[in-house]
Amino acid sequence: MEAPAPDELATIRESVRALCARYPGEYWRQLDRERAYPAEFVQALTEAGFLAALVPEDYGGSGLGLSAAAAILEEVHAAGCNGAACHAQMYIMGTILRHGSDEQKARFLPGIASGALRLQAFGVTEPTSGTDTLSLRTVAVREGDHYVVNGQKIWTSRAEHSDLMLLLARTTPRAQAKRRTDGLSVFLVDMRLAEGTGIKINPIRTMMNHATTEVFLDDLRVPVENLVGEEGKGFRYILSGMNAERILIAAECIGDAKWFIARATAYARERAVFGRPIGQNQGVQFPIARAYAQMRAAELMVREAARRYEAGEDCGAEANMAKLLAADASWAAADMCVQTHGGFGFAEDFDIERKFRETRLYQVAPISTNLILSYLAEHVLELPRSY
Ligand SMILES: Cc1cc2nc3c(=O)[nH]c(=O)nc-3n(C[C@H](O)[C@H](O)[C@H](O)COP(=O)(O)OP(=O)(O)OC[C@H]3O[C@@H](n4cnc5c(N)ncnc54)[C@H](O)[C@@H]3O)c2cc1C
Repeated sequence: MEAPAPDELATIRESVRALCARYPGEYWRQLDRERAYPAEFVQALTEAGFLAALVPEDYGGSGLGLSAAAAILEEVHAAGCNGAACHAQMYIMGTILRHGSDEQKARFLPGIASGALRLQAFGVTEPTSGTDTLSLRTVAVREGDHYVVNGQKIWTSRAEHSDLMLLLARTTPRAQAKRRTDGLSVFLVDMRLAEGTGIKINPIRTMMNHATTEVFLDDLRVPVENLVGEEGKGFRYILSGMNAERILIAAECIGDAKWFIARATAYARERAVFGRPIGQNQGVQFPIARAYAQMRAAELMVREAARRYEAGEDCGAEANMAKLLAADASWAAADMCVQTHGGFGFAEDFDIERKFRETRLYQVAPISTNLILSYLAEHVLELPRSY
């Protein structure tokens, strides 16, 4: 995928900003109070074609590269909105694109591109395995032309707002797998057909408005034609999609950091205490300036990771560093923004406490900071594997 022309990205950014302006703080505050899904906002992004940015034109998408998708999500967050409700619609389909059959691509991608089909649930994490994906316990056993799936997933976000779920399950017992990473398979589960027949979804209420759930799979029957790629190779397929996910989430963090910095700067200029703007005090200026420098450094890493991804170069280290640095930058900016606002940082109407809660997630999901540091230690610095 070629890197986009700078003016193409500028146009995309401008259109996203115009769309997001229709969804101000009040819209998000109301949803946050009710822990409700931003259906209208997601619909608007869908109709504008933004969620189909990465789907090739042959299947009805825009066929844009990762830096365009990253720019879209960054702008969503820089506008004070939240892409977490739908960002996965952009990238989960990459697993079908890279590893699915022609028949699967023809069957699913056009609907995903138009938004008629939602593929934005990703069932990997389980209550007992956590970060240690290879020890997951959900099993899929072949019975004729179906697999029968039993197990439990947790933190399966957007499952209630998704038609399809990409599910990772064990098809060969761990002890019998030839290689450590063999024996897991990826399935496309049609949750519309499965409802009441093997899937139970319970919402989990969290500190921010994030439509996340736990999913119980009880003798769920998945047709063999919904196995993606080869049986037993699922872990590799999931890993191959992670760099894109990390870069896109990092772009959201950059957007959050920009939002916090813009809000803090505006407030520091306006708010007068002791007869002068608080922003005239270095004690207030310096944390904002530091957050800005941290955000810019992280932004450079996000852009470098996206550039390498689009050039087809290895980008594992850069994608991980982008996620680490951007999540740290957004969290530092969030903390600074609360401090700059004093008491008003805690007031619902300022939206800062909401964004503060939302951006905290990225220290933990989709991969926690420690696991990124372990990756860098092992794969870049060649230190012994620690787990
Ligand atoms: C709101 C939300 C949405 C999510 N959405 C999804 C989703 O859609 N699909 C999905 O599959 N998952 C999802 N997740 C799960 C998420 O990816 C995991 O929470 C995350 O990967 C961490 O796993 P865990 O919670 O099991 O923590 P654990 O693996 O139990 O780890 C707990 C803590 O210990 C640390 N730790 C663990 N092992 C080590 C080690 N060897 N060295 C150093 N530190 C270690 C971790 O860094 C972490 O801080 C979501 C989570 C949340 C909270």
